[in-house]
Amino acid sequence: MLLIPCPNCGERDESEFDYGGRALAYPVLDASPGQWHEALHLRTNPLGDIDEYWYHSSGCECWIRLRRNLSTHKFSRLTSDESNT
Ligand SMILES: [Zn+2]
Repeated sequence: MLLIPCPNCGERDESEFDYGGRALAYPVLDASPGQWHEALHLRTNPLGDIDEYWYHSSGCECWIRLRRNLSTHKFSRLTSDESNT
């Protein structure tokens, strides 16, 4: 069971959330097919911190971006600078 820290509601069970995927930097729309292939299909799978989107569907109904450590599954909040990238 994961406890997800929602900035609006506090720490809640993961069953209240929908997973929105990894927060990745995608290329611009007119990027080359090779750049899109690399962005969509050649992702890294780090055993460490990744940024993810979560939707609090059974709570405040907000999308949130969090950092989760894939080995410990511990969440941490992003700073305002990190959440805007
Ligand atoms: Zn919430």
